[in-house]
Amino acid sequence: MNFISTRSASPAANLSQAIAAGLAPDGGLYVPQQMPASRTLQAGDSLASTANELLQPFFAGDALEAELSGICQQAFDFPAPLLPMATPNDHVLELFHGPTAAFKDFGARFLAASLSRLRAGQGQPLTIVVATSGDTGAAVAAAFHNQPNLKVVVLYPDGRVSPRQAHQLGCLGGNIRALRVAGSFDDCQAMAKQALNDRDLQAQVPLSSANSISLGRLLPQMSYYAHAALSHQAAHGTVLNFVIPTGNLGNAMAAVMARALGVPLGRIVLATNANRVLPDYFNGGDYAPKPSVATLANAMDVGAPSNFERLRWLYDGDDAALRDAFVSRAVDDATIRETIARRYRLHGEVFCPHTATAVQVLEQLRASGDAAADQHWAVAATAHPAKFESVVEPLIGREVPVPSALAELLKRPAHAEPCAPEYAALRRTLLEA
Ligand SMILES: *Cc1c(COP(=O)(O)O)cnc(C)c1O
Repeated sequence: MNFISTRSASPAANLSQAIAAGLAPDGGLYVPQQMPASRTLQAGDSLASTANELLQPFFAGDALEAELSGICQQAFDFPAPLLPMATPNDHVLELFHGPTAAFKDFGARFLAASLSRLRAGQGQPLTIVVATSGDTGAAVAAAFHNQPNLKVVVLYPDGRVSPRQAHQLGCLGGNIRALRVAGSFDDCQAMAKQALNDRDLQAQVPLSSANSISLGRLLPQMSYYAHAALSHQAAHGTVLNFVIPTGNLGNAMAAVMARALGVPLGRIVLATNANRVLPDYFNGGDYAPKPSVATLANAMDVGAPSNFERLRWLYDGDDAALRDAFVSRAVDDATIRETIARRYRLHGEVFCPHTATAVQVLEQLRASGDAAADQHWAVAATAHPAKFESVVEPLIGREVPVPSALAELLKRPAHAEPCAPEYAALRRTLLEA
Protein backbone atom coordinates (compact mmCIF):
# COMPACT_ATOMS: atom_id res chain seq x y z
CA MET A 1 0.00 0.00 0.00
CA ASN A 2 1.11 3.55 -0.70
CA PHE A 3 0.50 6.62 1.40
CA ILE A 4 -0.22 10.17 0.29
CA SER A 5 -0.31 13.52 2.06
CA THR A 6 -3.60 15.04 3.24
CA ARG A 7 -2.43 18.05 1.22
CA SER A 8 -1.80 15.89 -1.84
CA ALA A 9 1.19 17.79 -3.22
CA SER A 10 3.83 15.31 -2.01
CA PRO A 11 4.73 12.19 -3.96
CA ALA A 12 3.28 8.91 -2.68
CA ALA A 13 5.45 7.07 -0.13
CA ASN A 14 5.55 3.44 0.86
CA LEU A 15 4.88 2.52 4.47
CA SER A 16 8.55 2.38 5.53
CA GLN A 17 9.19 5.81 4.03
CA ALA A 18 6.07 7.29 5.63
CA ILE A 19 6.98 5.87 9.05
CA ALA A 20 10.58 7.07 8.81
CA ALA A 21 9.55 10.57 7.68
CA GLY A 22 6.75 11.29 10.18
CA LEU A 23 5.35 14.35 8.42
CA ALA A 24 4.92 14.47 4.61
CA PRO A 25 7.33 16.87 2.82
CA ASP A 26 4.50 19.33 2.04
CA GLY A 27 3.65 19.59 5.74
CA GLY A 28 0.57 17.36 5.45
CA LEU A 29 -0.19 14.09 7.23
CA TYR A 30 0.27 10.71 5.60
CA VAL A 31 -2.94 8.78 4.87
CA PRO A 32 -3.54 5.57 2.90
CA GLN A 33 -3.83 6.21 -0.85
CA GLN A 34 -6.99 4.16 -0.56
CA MET A 35 -8.55 2.85 2.66
CA PRO A 36 -8.64 -0.96 2.64
CA ALA A 37 -12.19 -2.25 2.01
CA SER A 38 -14.30 -3.00 5.08
CA ARG A 39 -14.13 -6.75 5.84
CA THR A 40 -15.29 -9.30 8.37
CA LEU A 41 -12.72 -9.52 11.12
CA GLN A 42 -12.25 -11.89 13.99
CA ALA A 43 -10.70 -11.26 17.39
CA GLY A 44 -7.39 -13.10 17.72
CA ASP A 45 -6.32 -14.97 20.87
CA SER A 46 -4.33 -11.94 21.91
CA LEU A 47 -4.14 -8.23 21.24
CA ALA A 48 -0.96 -8.88 19.22
CA SER A 49 -2.67 -11.37 16.91
CA THR A 50 -5.70 -9.10 16.36
CA ALA A 51 -3.27 -6.27 15.56
CA ASN A 52 -1.40 -8.46 13.10
CA GLU A 53 -4.56 -9.31 11.17
CA LEU A 54 -5.96 -5.78 11.19
CA LEU A 55 -2.72 -4.08 10.10
CA GLN A 56 -1.84 -6.58 7.33
CA PRO A 57 -3.32 -4.55 4.41
CA PHE A 58 -1.28 -1.46 5.39
CA PHE A 59 1.96 -3.48 5.37
CA ALA A 60 1.25 -5.38 2.12
CA GLY A 61 4.17 -5.10 -0.29
CA ASP A 62 6.37 -3.13 2.12
CA ALA A 63 9.85 -4.05 3.35
CA LEU A 64 8.31 -4.36 6.83
CA GLU A 65 5.60 -6.83 5.76
CA ALA A 66 7.50 -9.91 6.92
CA GLU A 67 8.31 -8.12 10.19
CA LEU A 68 4.73 -7.18 11.09
CA SER A 69 4.08 -10.17 13.30
CA GLY A 70 7.31 -9.59 15.25
CA ILE A 71 6.59 -5.87 15.58
CA CYS A 72 3.12 -6.66 16.98
CA GLN A 73 4.55 -9.18 19.47
CA GLN A 74 7.06 -6.60 20.67
CA ALA A 75 4.67 -3.63 20.85
CA PHE A 76 1.56 -5.35 22.22
CA ASP A 77 3.10 -7.27 25.08
CA PHE A 78 0.74 -5.87 27.72
CA PRO A 79 -3.06 -6.11 27.82
CA ALA A 80 -5.86 -3.61 27.16
CA PRO A 81 -8.72 -5.12 29.17
CA LEU A 82 -12.35 -4.11 28.60
CA LEU A 83 -13.98 -4.13 32.03
CA PRO A 84 -17.54 -3.43 33.19
CA MET A 85 -18.23 -0.16 35.01
CA ALA A 86 -20.64 -0.06 37.95
CA THR A 87 -23.41 1.48 35.81
CA PRO A 88 -25.32 -0.96 33.56
CA ASN A 89 -23.99 -1.60 30.03
CA ASP A 90 -21.08 0.81 30.61
CA HIS A 91 -17.50 -0.39 30.18
CA VAL A 92 -13.99 0.95 30.47
CA LEU A 93 -11.20 0.05 28.04
CA GLU A 94 -8.04 0.31 30.15
CA LEU A 95 -5.20 1.51 27.94
CA PHE A 96 -2.76 2.21 30.78
CA HIS A 97 -1.03 -1.10 31.48
CA GLY A 98 2.17 -0.23 29.60
CA PRO A 99 5.53 0.98 30.97
CA THR A 100 4.50 4.63 31.42
CA ALA A 101 0.84 3.91 32.28
CA ALA A 102 -0.78 5.79 29.38
CA PHE A 103 -2.21 4.74 25.99
CA LYS A 104 0.71 6.43 24.20
CA ASP A 105 2.85 3.42 25.15
CA PHE A 106 1.15 1.36 22.40
CA GLY A 107 1.94 3.77 19.57
CA ALA A 108 5.42 4.62 20.85
CA ARG A 109 6.38 0.94 21.21
CA PHE A 110 5.08 0.10 17.74
CA LEU A 111 7.00 3.01 16.23
CA ALA A 112 10.20 1.98 18.06
CA ALA A 113 9.82 -1.64 16.94
CA SER A 114 9.30 -0.49 13.33
CA LEU A 115 12.14 2.04 13.25
CA SER A 116 14.67 -0.31 14.87
CA ARG A 117 13.99 -2.82 12.07
CA LEU A 118 14.23 -0.13 9.38
CA ARG A 119 17.58 1.03 10.80
CA ALA A 120 19.05 -2.45 11.17
CA GLY A 121 22.39 -2.74 9.38
CA GLN A 122 22.76 1.01 8.85
CA GLY A 123 25.92 2.39 10.38
CA GLN A 124 24.93 5.56 12.16
CA PRO A 125 22.13 5.49 14.72
CA LEU A 126 18.98 7.53 14.10
CA THR A 127 18.32 10.19 16.73
CA ILE A 128 14.70 10.91 17.63
CA VAL A 129 14.15 14.47 18.83
CA VAL A 130 11.00 14.96 20.93
CA ALA A 131 9.68 18.03 22.66
CA THR A 132 7.25 17.09 25.41
CA SER A 133 4.96 18.63 27.97
CA GLY A 134 5.01 15.29 29.80
CA ASP A 135 3.28 12.14 28.59
CA THR A 136 4.51 11.80 25.00
CA GLY A 137 8.18 12.11 25.88
CA ALA A 138 7.90 9.54 28.65
CA ALA A 139 6.22 6.99 26.37
CA VAL A 140 8.74 7.58 23.58
CA ALA A 141 11.74 7.43 25.93
CA ALA A 142 10.56 4.18 27.53
CA ALA A 143 9.73 2.61 24.15
CA PHE A 144 13.10 3.46 22.55
CA HIS A 145 15.23 2.64 25.59
CA ASN A 146 17.92 0.07 24.62
CA GLN A 147 16.62 -0.23 21.03
CA PRO A 148 19.66 -0.84 18.82
CA ASN A 149 20.60 1.89 16.30
CA LEU A 150 18.24 4.42 17.86
CA LYS A 151 18.82 7.30 20.26
CA VAL A 152 16.38 9.76 21.80
CA VAL A 153 16.86 13.36 22.90
CA VAL A 154 13.86 14.59 24.91
CA LEU A 155 13.37 18.29 25.59
CA TYR A 156 11.02 19.38 28.35
CA PRO A 157 10.30 22.72 30.04
CA ASP A 158 12.17 22.65 33.37
CA GLY A 159 9.80 22.96 36.32
CA ARG A 160 6.67 22.77 34.16
CA VAL A 161 6.13 19.01 34.07
CA SER A 162 5.09 17.07 37.18
CA PRO A 163 7.93 15.64 39.33
CA ARG A 164 6.87 12.10 38.36
CA GLN A 165 6.89 13.01 34.68
CA ALA A 166 10.36 14.56 34.97
CA HIS A 167 11.57 11.46 36.75
CA GLN A 168 10.25 9.19 33.99
CA LEU A 169 12.15 11.20 31.39
CA GLY A 170 15.45 11.29 33.26
CA CYS A 171 15.62 7.80 34.76
CA LEU A 172 16.38 5.72 31.67
CA GLY A 173 19.88 6.80 30.65
CA GLY A 174 21.77 4.78 28.03
CA ASN A 175 20.53 5.81 24.60
CA ILE A 176 18.03 8.31 26.11
CA ARG A 177 19.12 11.88 26.96
CA ALA A 178 16.78 14.19 28.83
CA LEU A 179 17.31 17.95 28.43
CA ARG A 180 15.58 20.21 30.91
CA VAL A 181 15.14 23.45 29.02
CA ALA A 182 15.02 26.76 30.88
CA GLY A 183 11.95 27.85 28.94
CA SER A 184 8.41 26.93 27.91
CA PHE A 185 7.04 23.94 26.01
CA ASP A 186 6.75 26.19 22.96
CA ASP A 187 10.51 26.93 23.21
CA CYS A 188 11.19 23.17 23.31
CA GLN A 189 8.99 22.56 20.30
CA ALA A 190 10.56 25.39 18.31
CA MET A 191 14.06 24.05 19.08
CA ALA A 192 13.10 20.51 18.01
CA LYS A 193 11.52 21.80 14.79
CA GLN A 194 14.60 23.80 13.95
CA ALA A 195 16.80 20.74 14.39
CA LEU A 196 14.55 18.67 12.14
CA ASN A 197 14.80 21.37 9.44
CA ASP A 198 18.59 21.82 9.75
CA ARG A 199 20.02 20.08 6.64
CA ASP A 200 23.59 20.78 7.64
CA LEU A 201 23.10 19.12 10.99
CA GLN A 202 21.20 16.18 9.48
CA ALA A 203 24.13 15.47 7.15
CA GLN A 204 26.15 14.71 10.29
CA VAL A 205 23.46 13.37 12.63
CA PRO A 206 20.44 11.58 11.09
CA LEU A 207 17.33 12.85 12.90
CA SER A 208 13.66 11.98 13.03
CA SER A 209 10.62 12.84 15.14
CA ALA A 210 8.09 10.71 16.97
CA ASN A 211 5.12 12.98 17.40
CA SER A 212 1.52 11.90 17.38
CA ILE A 213 0.94 12.52 13.69
CA SER A 214 3.33 9.69 12.77
CA LEU A 215 1.61 6.78 11.01
CA GLY A 216 3.79 4.47 13.08
CA ARG A 217 1.87 5.65 16.14
CA LEU A 218 -1.58 6.11 14.58
CA LEU A 219 -2.05 2.75 12.84
CA PRO A 220 -1.32 0.48 15.85
CA GLN A 221 -3.84 2.40 17.98
CA MET A 222 -6.63 0.84 15.90
CA SER A 223 -5.71 -2.53 17.38
CA TYR A 224 -7.07 -2.17 20.91
CA TYR A 225 -10.40 -0.90 19.63
CA ALA A 226 -10.56 -3.84 17.25
CA HIS A 227 -9.65 -6.40 19.90
CA ALA A 228 -12.14 -4.99 22.42
CA ALA A 229 -15.04 -4.55 19.98
CA LEU A 230 -14.57 -7.93 18.27
CA SER A 231 -14.27 -9.79 21.59
CA HIS A 232 -17.28 -7.92 22.93
CA GLN A 233 -19.35 -8.75 19.87
CA ALA A 234 -18.39 -12.43 20.09
CA ALA A 235 -19.47 -12.50 23.75
CA HIS A 236 -22.60 -10.28 23.64
CA GLY A 237 -23.64 -10.11 19.97
CA THR A 238 -23.68 -6.33 20.02
CA VAL A 239 -21.60 -3.40 18.81
CA LEU A 240 -19.65 -1.28 21.25
CA ASN A 241 -20.04 2.51 21.22
CA PHE A 242 -17.19 4.70 22.52
CA VAL A 243 -16.55 7.99 24.24
CA ILE A 244 -12.89 8.94 23.73
CA PRO A 245 -11.01 11.68 25.63
CA THR A 246 -9.50 13.81 22.89
CA GLY A 247 -6.68 16.29 22.43
CA ASN A 248 -4.84 15.93 19.12
CA LEU A 249 -7.44 13.42 17.89
CA GLY A 250 -4.85 10.66 17.44
CA ASN A 251 -6.53 8.09 19.64
CA ALA A 252 -10.03 8.89 18.35
CA MET A 253 -8.88 8.95 14.70
CA ALA A 254 -7.60 5.40 15.14
CA ALA A 255 -11.05 4.29 16.35
CA VAL A 256 -12.70 5.98 13.35
CA MET A 257 -10.31 4.22 10.97
CA ALA A 258 -10.84 0.86 12.69
CA ARG A 259 -14.60 1.25 12.20
CA ALA A 260 -14.05 1.97 8.49
CA LEU A 261 -12.10 -1.31 8.22
CA GLY A 262 -15.06 -3.33 9.52
CA VAL A 263 -14.51 -3.34 13.29
CA PRO A 264 -17.96 -3.52 14.98
CA LEU A 265 -17.85 -0.07 16.57
CA GLY A 266 -21.05 1.98 16.82
CA ARG A 267 -20.88 5.67 17.62
CA ILE A 268 -17.64 7.43 18.47
CA VAL A 269 -18.14 10.48 20.70
CA LEU A 270 -15.33 12.94 21.39
CA ALA A 271 -14.85 14.31 24.92
CA THR A 272 -12.60 17.34 25.37
CA ASN A 273 -11.56 19.46 28.34
CA ALA A 274 -12.17 23.24 28.32
CA ASN A 275 -10.25 23.48 25.02
CA ARG A 276 -13.37 23.43 22.91
CA VAL A 277 -12.23 23.83 19.32
CA LEU A 278 -13.78 20.44 18.40
CA PRO A 279 -17.12 20.81 20.23
CA ASP A 280 -17.52 24.27 18.69
CA TYR A 281 -16.88 22.86 15.22
CA PHE A 282 -19.17 19.85 15.60
CA ASN A 283 -21.91 22.13 16.92
CA GLY A 284 -21.85 24.02 13.65
CA GLY A 285 -19.10 26.61 14.10
CA ASP A 286 -16.09 27.10 11.85
CA TYR A 287 -12.97 25.08 12.54
CA ALA A 288 -11.06 27.73 14.50
CA PRO A 289 -7.79 26.67 16.20
CA LYS A 290 -6.87 28.83 19.21
CA PRO A 291 -4.09 28.96 21.80
CA SER A 292 -4.63 26.19 24.34
CA VAL A 293 -5.72 26.83 27.93
CA ALA A 294 -4.30 24.87 30.88
CA THR A 295 -6.65 22.31 32.47
CA LEU A 296 -6.53 19.37 34.89
CA ALA A 297 -6.51 16.99 31.91
CA ASN A 298 -3.27 18.52 30.65
CA ALA A 299 -2.39 15.91 28.01
CA MET A 300 -5.50 17.17 26.18
CA ASP A 301 -4.59 20.87 26.36
CA VAL A 302 -4.61 21.30 22.60
CA GLY A 303 -5.87 24.31 20.68
CA ALA A 304 -5.15 23.01 17.16
CA PRO A 305 -5.87 19.25 17.04
CA SER A 306 -3.25 17.99 14.59
CA ASN A 307 -5.16 14.93 13.35
CA PHE A 308 -8.23 16.97 12.40
CA GLU A 309 -6.75 17.14 8.91
CA ARG A 310 -6.92 13.34 8.72
CA LEU A 311 -10.50 13.18 9.94
CA ARG A 312 -11.56 15.72 7.31
CA TRP A 313 -9.73 13.71 4.65
CA LEU A 314 -11.65 10.55 5.62
CA TYR A 315 -14.92 12.45 5.07
CA ASP A 316 -13.73 13.95 1.75
CA GLY A 317 -13.71 17.43 3.28
CA ASP A 318 -17.50 17.30 3.70
CA ASP A 319 -18.13 19.35 6.85
CA ALA A 320 -21.87 18.63 6.89
CA ALA A 321 -21.25 14.87 6.80
CA LEU A 322 -18.63 15.20 9.54
CA ARG A 323 -20.94 17.17 11.80
CA ASP A 324 -23.63 14.58 11.20
CA ALA A 325 -21.32 11.72 12.11
CA PHE A 326 -19.85 12.97 15.40
CA VAL A 327 -20.87 14.43 18.70
CA SER A 328 -18.25 16.28 20.73
CA ARG A 329 -18.65 17.79 24.20
CA ALA A 330 -16.37 19.83 26.44
CA VAL A 331 -15.99 19.25 30.19
CA ASP A 332 -14.63 22.01 32.45
CA ASP A 333 -12.25 21.50 35.38
CA ALA A 334 -14.94 21.82 38.07
CA THR A 335 -16.96 19.06 36.39
CA ILE A 336 -13.85 16.88 35.99
CA ARG A 337 -13.28 17.18 39.75
CA GLU A 338 -16.93 16.50 40.54
CA THR A 339 -16.96 13.40 38.32
CA ILE A 340 -13.80 11.91 39.86
CA ALA A 341 -15.04 12.50 43.43
CA ARG A 342 -18.58 11.22 42.80
CA ARG A 343 -17.65 8.07 40.85
CA TYR A 344 -15.33 7.15 43.71
CA ARG A 345 -17.87 7.96 46.43
CA LEU A 346 -20.75 6.11 44.76
CA HIS A 347 -18.97 3.24 42.99
CA GLY A 348 -15.38 3.02 44.25
CA GLU A 349 -14.13 3.76 40.71
CA VAL A 350 -10.96 5.86 40.30
CA PHE A 351 -10.38 7.72 37.03
CA CYS A 352 -7.60 10.02 35.80
CA PRO A 353 -8.72 13.55 34.81
CA HIS A 354 -8.63 12.68 31.07
CA THR A 355 -10.73 9.56 31.47
CA ALA A 356 -13.11 11.51 33.71
CA THR A 357 -14.03 13.82 30.80
CA ALA A 358 -15.25 10.77 28.86
CA VAL A 359 -17.07 9.30 31.87
CA GLN A 360 -18.87 12.63 32.31
CA VAL A 361 -19.88 12.82 28.64
CA LEU A 362 -21.17 9.24 28.76
CA GLU A 363 -23.23 10.12 31.85
CA GLN A 364 -24.72 13.07 29.95
CA LEU A 365 -25.59 10.88 26.93
CA ARG A 366 -27.23 8.28 29.19
CA ALA A 367 -29.19 10.92 31.12
CA SER A 368 -30.58 12.53 27.95
CA GLY A 369 -31.49 9.19 26.36
CA ASP A 370 -29.13 9.93 23.49
CA ALA A 371 -27.34 6.74 24.55
CA ALA A 372 -30.25 4.29 25.01
CA ALA A 373 -30.20 2.11 28.16
CA ASP A 374 -29.80 -1.12 26.18
CA GLN A 375 -26.81 0.13 24.14
CA HIS A 376 -23.34 -0.95 25.19
CA TRP A 377 -20.89 1.90 25.64
CA ALA A 378 -17.25 2.12 26.68
CA VAL A 379 -14.93 4.94 27.67
CA ALA A 380 -11.27 4.84 26.67
CA ALA A 381 -9.24 5.13 29.90
CA THR A 382 -6.14 6.86 28.57
CA ALA A 383 -3.97 7.04 31.71
CA HIS A 384 -3.68 5.41 35.13
CA PRO A 385 -4.94 7.72 37.90
CA ALA A 386 -1.60 7.32 39.75
CA LYS A 387 0.03 9.47 37.05
CA PHE A 388 -2.13 12.39 38.16
CA GLU A 389 -2.05 11.73 41.89
CA SER A 390 -1.87 15.41 42.84
CA VAL A 391 -5.31 15.94 41.24
CA VAL A 392 -6.93 12.61 42.08
CA GLU A 393 -5.80 11.84 45.64
CA PRO A 394 -7.26 14.96 47.33
CA LEU A 395 -10.59 14.30 45.57
CA ILE A 396 -10.94 10.72 46.71
CA GLY A 397 -9.20 11.11 50.07
CA ARG A 398 -6.78 8.23 49.71
CA GLU A 399 -3.56 7.27 47.99
CA VAL A 400 -3.67 5.72 44.52
CA PRO A 401 -1.29 2.74 44.36
CA VAL A 402 1.29 3.11 41.59
CA PRO A 403 1.21 0.29 38.97
CA SER A 404 4.28 -1.92 39.16
CA ALA A 405 5.78 -1.00 35.75
CA LEU A 406 5.65 2.69 36.63
CA ALA A 407 6.95 1.99 40.15
CA GLU A 408 9.99 0.24 38.60
CA LEU A 409 10.78 3.39 36.61
CA LEU A 410 10.31 5.66 39.61
CA LYS A 411 12.80 3.60 41.63
CA ARG A 412 15.65 4.30 39.21
CA PRO A 413 17.79 7.39 39.84
CA ALA A 414 17.05 10.23 37.42
CA HIS A 415 19.32 12.73 35.72
CA ALA A 416 18.48 15.49 33.23
CA GLU A 417 20.98 17.88 31.61
CA PRO A 418 20.27 21.61 31.79
CA CYS A 419 19.85 23.31 28.41
CA ALA A 420 19.45 26.96 27.45
CA PRO A 421 16.24 27.79 25.52
CA GLU A 422 18.21 28.42 22.33
CA TYR A 423 18.62 26.34 19.23
CA ALA A 424 22.43 26.66 19.33
CA ALA A 425 22.48 24.82 22.67
CA LEU A 426 20.44 21.91 21.29
CA ARG A 427 22.57 21.78 18.15
CA ARG A 428 25.76 21.50 20.22
CA THR A 429 24.23 18.69 22.28
CA LEU A 430 23.17 16.78 19.17
CA LEU A 431 26.67 17.06 17.69
CA GLU A 432 28.36 15.63 20.79
CA ALA A 433 29.18 11.97 20.45
C1 LIG B 1 -2.26 12.21 24.81
C2 LIG B 1 -3.34 11.93 25.78
C3 LIG B 1 -4.70 12.15 25.46
C4 LIG B 1 -5.14 12.75 24.13
O1 LIG B 1 -4.92 11.87 23.06
P1 LIG B 1 -4.97 12.43 21.56
O2 LIG B 1 -4.54 11.30 20.71
O3 LIG B 1 -4.01 13.59 21.51
O4 LIG B 1 -6.36 12.87 21.29
C5 LIG B 1 -5.67 11.80 26.39
N1 LIG B 1 -5.32 11.30 27.60
C6 LIG B 1 -4.03 11.08 27.93
C7 LIG B 1 -3.73 10.54 29.28
C8 LIG B 1 -3.00 11.38 27.05
O5 LIG B 1 -1.72 11.18 27.41
